[in-house]
Amino acid sequence: MLKRVRNGIVSMMCPIQMELTGHHFLGSSRSAEGQQTFQGFNPATGEALPTHFYEATPAEVGQAVEKAAAAFAVFRKKSGVEKAAFLEKIGEEIVALGDELLQTASLETALPLPRLTGERGRTVGQLKLFADLLREGSWVDARLDTAQPDRQPAAKPDLRQMQRALGPVGVFGASNFPLAFSVAGGDTASAIAAGCPVVFKAHPAHPATCELVAGAIVRAVKACGLPDGTFSLVQGAGTEVGMALVQHPLVKAVGFTGSYRGGKALFDAAVRRPEPIPVYAEMGSTNPVFILPGALRERGAALAVGLAGSITLGVGQFCTNPGVFVVPTLSETTDFVKTVGEKLSATAPGVMLTSGIRQAYASGIGKLGLVVGTERLTLAELTGETGTVTPQLLRTTAAAALANPELTEEVFGPSSVAIVADDKAQTLEFARNLHGHLTATLHGTSEDLTDYAELIEILETKVGRLVINGFPTGVEVASAMVHGGPFPATTDSRSTSVGTAAIFRFTRPVCYQDFPETLLPEELKSDNPLGIWRRVDGSLKK
Ligand code: NAP
Repeated sequence: MLKRVRNGIVSMMCPIQMELTGHHFLGSSRSAEGQQTFQGFNPATGEALPTHFYEATPAEVGQAVEKAAAAFAVFRKKSGVEKAAFLEKIGEEIVALGDELLQTASLETALPLPRLTGERGRTVGQLKLFADLLREGSWVDARLDTAQPDRQPAAKPDLRQMQRALGPVGVFGASNFPLAFSVAGGDTASAIAAGCPVVFKAHPAHPATCELVAGAIVRAVKACGLPDGTFSLVQGAGTEVGMALVQHPLVKAVGFTGSYRGGKALFDAAVRRPEPIPVYAEMGSTNPVFILPGALRERGAALAVGLAGSITLGVGQFCTNPGVFVVPTLSETTDFVKTVGEKLSATAPGVMLTSGIRQAYASGIGKLGLVVGTERLTLAELTGETGTVTPQLLRTTAAAALANPELTEEVFGPSSVAIVADDKAQTLEFARNLHGHLTATLHGTSEDLTDYAELIEILETKVGRLVINGFPTGVEVASAMVHGGPFPATTDSRSTSVGTAAIFRFTRPVCYQDFPETLLPEELKSDNPLGIWRRVDGSLKK
């Protein structure tokens, strides 16, 4: 195998050793009925990659969903232990794909191998986290209310409730995480953990990576003796395939990670269906960072370095990238903003994921620079050699940002807008006018944090995660994580797409009234055979 690696990015690898066909997985069957094909691109060279991937036809999408619906009848009743074994087997199969998976993903995305190695670890760790949750079992939120036949004036029935799977789920991954937010990413892991079969719409920016990981999942389905159709993958490079999936009457929920435009279009389509379904779209965010006065005076230089690092991490292609930061007007302000700009200017240009994302970055920065009262502080050309862009910093005032809300909209890439506020009142006013974001960050001394308690209260209503004296990039996969937030960060602020609570997007509560013991699910039987925590007559008990 010939492999060329520059800056950790694979730029050439031929031939790809694992067989890529460009065909869909309709359960375990391979299919390629469509007339149209598309190719992946190497963003570092602009060259088309050799495999031709087939656009799924509406009939193929239909077959995948019908297989998922048939599988649901069996899969929904699998025990936590069985589903846990399946999730772990998926992880094993992904690891067994070896370095070739990482090299393929690097070729398609220009993400460096060390980053992709970490992302694979995160993906496998995420599957394991859900497996642990299922083995422990209490996540089903079992509630038992004992009957009171003698209660006056009316008898109280025996009521038992638990979370049950919704049905087949359509999942869409994002381009910037070809493993952790893609085929075997958090949406797929949480849907499977809930007991829902998945039909995954492959991302056209990394179709080969999608095919390899889908093969791993399909092998795991077989190895675990699960019904064919528990997992399917359909390829497509246009909106039709995704729309057909969302509009299929047997799909009962959608998990999406990607752009605002894509997520909102799919959400609107789902709402217009004869039977509307929930769409959990995790979309863009600008993740405002607030530098408070004491912190600016005390450690401005170090903060500028940290902030610049967070802005440029992964060529800024993170949904938690700090796209705006607010600084108070002090004697240190000019130096602080200048240092951030210098650090950005000193960062080497980076290759973006796709030519479309690169163009959107260039035009987004161009538009921000036209807003009255806004200046671009970084002088480098926006775009460099094939596929690359340079980090950019703009500076404006809080008054201009209040008058021009587009300044707080996401420009996906390594840029940020420094917003200089006259005083505390203007900082609070700016925060009150923010729309929903994934995160907000405060840098402050303990005096600052006391003085700005109101700011924290405002931000609690605006975001899913508040960070103090850290940076928003880097999302820990853990039980307490919330990766979500009010619209337009997501289409459902009550959910998270990262961490174990993501499972509740794909379940609904079912109540069993006066059921005989033999008909009750194990989780709700009186003698608690699974030994899980349950709320019995209002108290948590094992
Ligand atoms: P994208 O362009 O929206 O693509 C995501 C997926 O949705 C693709 O499979 C795409 O397929 C499909 N799609 C998009 N628009 C569609 C439409 N109108 N109808 C049907 N399908 C549609 O997103 P991306 O460029 O890959 O990802 C970058 C964005 O994701 C950034 O904004 C970033 O902030 C966000 N992101 C968010 C999170 C989060 O957790 N909140 C995480 C990572 C990234 P086609 O291209 O074939 O249409």
